[in-house]
Amino acid sequence: MIPLRTSAGWRVLDGFGGSVRALSRSVCPTSVDELAQVFAAARAEGLAVSFRGAGRSYGDASLNSGQLAVDGRGMRRILAFDPATGVLEAEGGASIADVWRHTLPAGWWPAVVPGTMFPTLAGCASMNIHGKNCFKVGPFGDHVLELDLLTAAGERKTLSREREPELFLAAIAGLGLLGAVTRVKLELKHVDSGQMRVRPIVVRTLEHMFDTFVERMPDSDYLVGWVDCFASGPALGRGLVHQANQLSSAEDPLGRESLALSRQDLPPAIFGVPKSLLWMLLKPFTNDTGWRFVNSVKYAVPERVDKDGTYRDSHAGFAFLLDYVPDWRLSYGAAGFIQVQLFVPDANARQAFSEALRLCQKRGVISYLAVFKRHRADDYVLSHGLDGWSLALDFKVPRDAHKLWDVAADLTRLVLEAGGTYYPAKDQVVDARSFARAFGERFTRFRELRRRMDPDGLFGNDQARRLGLV
Ligand SMILES: Cc1cc2nc3c(=O)[nH]c(=O)nc-3n(C[C@H](O)[C@H](O)[C@H](O)COP(=O)(O)OP(=O)(O)OC[C@H]3O[C@@H](n4cnc5c(N)ncnc54)[C@H](O)[C@@H]3O)c2cc1C
Repeated sequence: MIPLRTSAGWRVLDGFGGSVRALSRSVCPTSVDELAQVFAAARAEGLAVSFRGAGRSYGDASLNSGQLAVDGRGMRRILAFDPATGVLEAEGGASIADVWRHTLPAGWWPAVVPGTMFPTLAGCASMNIHGKNCFKVGPFGDHVLELDLLTAAGERKTLSREREPELFLAAIAGLGLLGAVTRVKLELKHVDSGQMRVRPIVVRTLEHMFDTFVERMPDSDYLVGWVDCFASGPALGRGLVHQANQLSSAEDPLGRESLALSRQDLPPAIFGVPKSLLWMLLKPFTNDTGWRFVNSVKYAVPERVDKDGTYRDSHAGFAFLLDYVPDWRLSYGAAGFIQVQLFVPDANARQAFSEALRLCQKRGVISYLAVFKRHRADDYVLSHGLDGWSLALDFKVPRDAHKLWDVAADLTRLVLEAGGTYYPAKDQVVDARSFARAFGERFTRFRELRRRMDPDGLFGNDQARRLGLV
């Protein structure tokens, strides 16, 4: 039996936003057998077990104060890949980067990726992450053909839409509360070239942002909006939309050579500054005055485009923009930052988002980075997905943090009143009552299934306790 309650192996782990931390006993098993032994040892020692992939969730999703945190990255092998069909199997701890670096030279790219390449497949499945193409291809779960789950009882189950569909639909977006995801079988999407054509579009107002998406969606592979949250009055919600479309090898001047990994690598330096130091240059701007200036420049200074108003970008360059500046989160300072992502149904989103932007301005709590996306509904029990829109707002945690917590609570209420949902990957503020009301019958169904699968409550984490899920 592995001894867990020893003095060794306790570590302070944080959420990606750096504003929440927890001391946990951390273990990193390298096989399913070893993981099963960890479960047995935790049960014997009365420790609750949580899972952590790359720790890229912003808040407390992968934290487990005073308990056991299983680091999934000891199990990250690519197990199989068929370049004829684009079907890949990997252990849960393999990252999105591990996947595309393995498959792109053969012309396959993950159908859904987040804004950073480091999350693990298990983390992506357990949150049912979405990409900038959610309106078109749905969330991550829609591309999972099968997954293996190691349950609290030590049983190894293979789940899919055909095999144990009830458990499959709950394990996707299951927040690691039904067992460990140890293997994921994914269908990838075929790409003929390693580049996309990107069109930046200036939008003058929030209405214009919505209208641009509606107009462009039928002809876009990817669409993402950036909102300048300092702009007020008639310019409320102004920003930029980036539309991206895959190129065929015939359209790409580099042809299939652009599929080479060397063509995807993000540059090692920007304006001569090594990537690793770039976050320090952001630091002086990470305050209201500095960021207002950054936003005005970003809005007013046109990007470099060809005659037709577009430019070419690699898949990695377009998808993982935030990875250009490693450790950018440190620029927010010691107290870190939080993200509040509002998910609101189509019918209410225009009003809810403009209310949210006004509310933040009135309280003097302005988001420095705001990202706008279109989503589509899905059928995973606890998924945030809906036929609607999202606005993700990053807030620096200020010295008088209570102002931010008050605004966050009001935004939580606003989402509930607008019939929206919450996204645990980004959440650190939602209360159990609001979460239960937003998910309604789905919340009850999930808790019942969890009780059946894990009657002794082996699995848990700080977020699940806060949201009333365990
Ligand atoms: C810069 C940045 C950009 C992002 N952009 C996006 C985006 O565009 N779209 C989006 O949807 N998300 C986005 N995210 C969020 C991120 O994709 C999710 O939080 C994702 O879940 C992180 O994966 P992870 O491997 O780091 O998992 P963690 O954050 O470590 O854990 C996430 C969840 O997965 C569970 N889990 C982890 N491993 C296992 C396992 N082996 N078995 C069972 N459960 C497990 C944990 O219990 C937890 O509930 C972004 C995050 C960052 C930092």
